[in-house]
Amino acid sequence: MIANYNLIRPWLTENHIKTYYDFKISSKSWLNVGGVIKNFITPENTEDCKKILKFLIQNNIKFYILGNISNIIVRDGEIFTPIINLNNLSNIIENETDEGLDLKVNAGTSMTKFSKFVTKRGITGCEGLVGIPGSIGGGIVMNAGSYGSCISDHLVSVEYLDTSGELKFFKKKELNLDFRKSIFQNNNYLIINANFFIHRKNYIGEDKTSSIMSKIVNIRTNTQEKKLPNLGSIFSTKNLYKDLKNKNITFYLTYYLYKFFSFLTYKFYKKNFANYRKLAVKVYTKLLKLDTSHGFSLSDKTINSLVNNGSLKADSAIVFLKEMKIQVGDCASLENIILDDID
Ligand SMILES: Cc1cc2nc3c(=O)[nH]c(=O)nc-3n(C[C@H](O)[C@H](O)[C@H](O)COP(=O)(O)OP(=O)(O)OC[C@H]3O[C@@H](n4cnc5c(N)ncnc54)[C@H](O)[C@@H]3O)c2cc1C
Repeated sequence: MIANYNLIRPWLTENHIKTYYDFKISSKSWLNVGGVIKNFITPENTEDCKKILKFLIQNNIKFYILGNISNIIVRDGEIFTPIINLNNLSNIIENETDEGLDLKVNAGTSMTKFSKFVTKRGITGCEGLVGIPGSIGGGIVMNAGSYGSCISDHLVSVEYLDTSGELKFFKKKELNLDFRKSIFQNNNYLIINANFFIHRKNYIGEDKTSSIMSKIVNIRTNTQEKKLPNLGSIFSTKNLYKDLKNKNITFYLTYYLYKFFSFLTYKFYKKNFANYRKLAVKVYTKLLKLDTSHGFSLSDKTINSLVNNGSLKADSAIVFLKEMKIQVGDCASLENIILDDID
C-alpha cells in the first residue's frame, strides 16, 4: 500500500470532495476490464482540483489521472494510488467575435460533445472528432484525431495544474505536438481547460457540416470495430500492414499479397470484403504468433485494434499487448497505454 494512504479518505470527506470508493474500472473502461480503484476522485471545479493536488503533494502521495479510459489498460486488483478524473468538469464557454469563435472547454468534456457543439454552429473543422470516445484532456495528451480533424487544429492554449498545484498555461507551440504525441505524456500535469479559436472563414453552414459529420460516422461504422469492447488503435499509425512490411521478407511479401487481394476483392467481390478482411487478420495473427486463447484477439476489421471477447482480466490484455509490441518491434510505436506498475 502507498505511504500516507490512510490520510486520503478522511481528508476527502472533510473537504466534501466527490469521490467514488472501490470504483470498478471495468464499468467505465472501453475495454471492459481493470481493477478496483480505492479512491476515484471526481472534483467539481478548478478550486477543488488545486486543493486536492496541494494535499497530495504536501503528503507525498503519488496520484494518477484518468479521462474516459478509452486508450489505457489499468491492471487487475486493488489500486491504492488515488485517481483524479475530471468527468464533472464538462462545460463549453463560447464567445463570438467579429473574427470568429473563442471556446474555453473543460478537460472532462467529451470530444464527441465538443465536435457536435462546433458542427451544430455550422463551423467546419471538428467533424472528424465525433467518434473519438475520449475526453478533451485525454485528447490533448494523445493529440487525438481522425478523418481530417485533429484536436490541436484550432487549439490556442492549455490551462493545467503543475506538480505543485499551480495553475499555468502552455501555448500551442509549447506543447511539442506530433502524431499522437504531446508534452503531457512526460509529466503528471492535470489539464483543466483547453482554449480554441475557430476563424470565421470556417463558417460554412449547418447543412454542410452535418452532412460531412454523417458521412464520417458512416465510414467509422463500416471500417472500425463496433461489436466488441476495444481501445481504438493499438499502434500510432495510419497503416500497420504497411509498417510491418519492414519487419522481414515474409511480412514484406504478405503485405503486397494483402494489397493485391484487397484490391481484387473490393473491386469484384465487394460483398465478400468483410470476410476477406477477417481472413487477413487471421493470417497476420498467426504470423505475429499471437496467443488468442485468453479472451483477447485482434478485431475482425483490422489488425490494429485489440478486442475483448468476454474476458474479465485486464492482465491478459496486458500480456497480449506486450507480446504484440515485441513482435511489431520498431515498425510502429504503441498508442495504447499500459498501466501495470501502479500501486
Ligand atoms: C472505439 C474507440 C475509437 C477510437 N478512435 C480514435 C481515433 O479515431 N483517433 C484517436 O486519436 N484516438 C482514438 N481512440 C483512442 C482514445 O479515444 C484517444 O486516445 C483519447 O484521446 C483518450 O482520451 P481519454 O479521455 O479516454 O484518456 P484516457 O484513456 O483515460 O487516458 C489517456 C492518457 O491521458 C491522460 N489524461 C486524461 N485526462 C487527462 C487530463 N485532464 N489531464 C492530464 N492527463 C490526462 C491519462 O493520464 C493517460 O495518460 C479510440 C478509442 C476507442 C475506444
